[in-house]
Amino acid sequence: MREILDTPFPKNDPYGSLAMPIYHTAAYEFGTAAEMEDAFTGKVAGFVYSRIANPTVAHFEERVKRVTGAQNVLAFNSGMAAISGTFITLAYSGGNIVTSPHLFGNTYSFFASTLKSFGVETRFCDMTSASAAAASIDKNTCAVFLEIITNPQMEVADLKALSAVCRAAGVPLVADTTVIPFTHFKASDFGVDIEIVSSTKYISGGATSLGGIVIDYGTYSGEKSPKLANIPESEGCTLFFTRLQREVHRNLGAFMPPETAYLQTLGLETTPLRYEKTSRSCKALAERLQQHPAVISVQYPALRTDKFYSLAAQQFGEFCGSMFTFDAASREKAFAFIDNLHLIRRATNLFDNRSLAIHPASTIFGTFTPEMRAAMDVKDTTIRLSVGLEDIEDLYNDIAQALAK
Ligand code: PLP
Repeated sequence: MREILDTPFPKNDPYGSLAMPIYHTAAYEFGTAAEMEDAFTGKVAGFVYSRIANPTVAHFEERVKRVTGAQNVLAFNSGMAAISGTFITLAYSGGNIVTSPHLFGNTYSFFASTLKSFGVETRFCDMTSASAAAASIDKNTCAVFLEIITNPQMEVADLKALSAVCRAAGVPLVADTTVIPFTHFKASDFGVDIEIVSSTKYISGGATSLGGIVIDYGTYSGEKSPKLANIPESEGCTLFFTRLQREVHRNLGAFMPPETAYLQTLGLETTPLRYEKTSRSCKALAERLQQHPAVISVQYPALRTDKFYSLAAQQFGEFCGSMFTFDAASREKAFAFIDNLHLIRRATNLFDNRSLAIHPASTIFGTFTPEMRAAMDVKDTTIRLSVGLEDIEDLYNDIAQALAK
């Protein structure tokens, strides 16, 4: 994939630097007042202040744009900032968002609490049923949102079916694709209008930094949205992207720092290599654990026995990322397994170069009530593994010895 290594910017570095340097600066100097006016009003492209745009960050965005073929890309300082920025742009008081209760903990809380306090309703429904999603949409729906593989449930929805429902209703299909990198999963081929990525995961190159990306494919016009329809058209940008970039991103101040953009540009260059190794190991471990007597069930949609297998194979190919979940016989056994790991680290996060184990119910969802966890299908017996770059035999041996205790 040659776009990953492309240098989108002209080679005007005074020292001929091969990598894009880190422009660690807050502001940029101008020769005249007229030049300042042109840059500040957007008549001439240029950098004015790093909360608005920065050359190192723009270089990273341009790389992502080339790899995805998107119309526009905007980087943020975390995945949550990319999610909140997107929905603050799309939603309005009196409007609603249609999504699944199977969401990353902070994303769920953002919809259920933060957006709610601004008068936005969130309608939780079964996203594996396009008709259930269709029944939840009405004239005040601002967007339909889902994660392409939910965690820890490992559920897969039919994106093309959801996209057809969304296009018929004139609402955008927004997908969090964090669990499979855009180097391997082409969200726009399945009708996703706006893609959101926590680049903290694969793209950071091994947990080097927090980051988030909004990828706009330009397929949602926004003309019917009362929030977007009245903003001035901007060339080469959807109404959504114009508002996100010109208003929400600047006002929230959730910009990606230049050193993060530098690290994540390097991380992007090796993402395909890391993804291929870790997802292959992940699938092999999931297959082996299915045979283990201490394991009650394994959830990984690339397993032939998984209920989402054929849909997952159609959408994601041979692998479904480097994360899987499995169930022990009890919460106590799940804790004992985690306590006895030697090689695999006890930590949150996904797609570090090291393998990580976590008990989602007591950590990511630990402050939720038991009733909320039950409604979200977050079980006390479930363990989540994010598979890293270690040797597969070493990983299996560590898992087997921890299960034996
Ligand atoms: N989306 C998913 C699927 C996640 O797993 C996470 C974090 O774990 C996020 C979004 C939030 O990303 P960040 O931690 O970069 O804010």
